Amino acid sequence: MDDLDFTDSELERYSRHILLPEVGAIGQAKLRAASVLIIGAGGLGAPMIMYLAAAGIGRIGIIDDDLVDLSNLQRQVAHTTDRIGVNKAESAAATAKAINPEITVNILPFRLASDTIDDLFSQYDVIADGTDNFETRYLVNDAAVRQSKTLVTAALLRFDGQITTVKPGGPCYRCLFPNPPPPAAVPSCSEAGVLGSVAGILGTMQATEIIKEIMDVGDSLSGRLMLFDGLSMSLRAMKAKQRKDCPACSIAHPETG
Ligand SMILES: [Zn+2]
Repeated sequence: MDDLDFTDSELERYSRHILLPEVGAIGQAKLRAASVLIIGAGGLGAPMIMYLAAAGIGRIGIIDDDLVDLSNLQRQVAHTTDRIGVNKAESAAATAKAINPEITVNILPFRLASDTIDDLFSQYDVIADGTDNFETRYLVNDAAVRQSKTLVTAALLRFDGQITTVKPGGPCYRCLFPNPPPPAAVPSCSEAGVLGSVAGILGTMQATEIIKEIMDVGDSLSGRLMLFDGLSMSLRAMKAKQRKDCPACSIAHPETG
């Protein structure tokens, strides 16, 4: 049972949440008791961190070894011009704490490494992937599957984005995309560009899904890949199934293969 004691300032801060029948004091207490690890304080991570901090997630971990650059500020809204050159995990943590000093923020100013990823993931309830490369995305997927963690993962390019949730019993990222595309096939945002506000939409969708997963309300995105097109302003869902031959999740969960 979650602790339902809130201070007056918490009750005021979260009043618009607590008013929602789907949230209430119990849902807000679940958010306060939860921990979320955000991988990458970039275009997706920045809005995620800000909304999750505002929502009162009790502990947020931010891992990023990169430094704030002038070219980041068009979309990475947790950073500011005067923090150019500062580590992104540190900068985003400062923004999160300024929004909500009631929460704990773990600053992890290093690179995600394959030999420490399982230990890191084991310390959080939910994992959020805001990275921009396929290598890390598969690494994060596989560790989340091994650790039986819920992972909300998204990707961006130009005016487009996609998002899905990976959790035990459902398809993983490798079930949806068994092989990474050849390096030349998919340009990066630094090569092809991205509309900053599209990063905001996808990162905010990730925050929404994380909050829903923690409170266990609504329909999970597990088994669905949502495709967002900002030019036509449309959103469509593709159904996804767990693959029997998936090297990541069928070994970890053979009974559901
Ligand atoms: Zn899989």
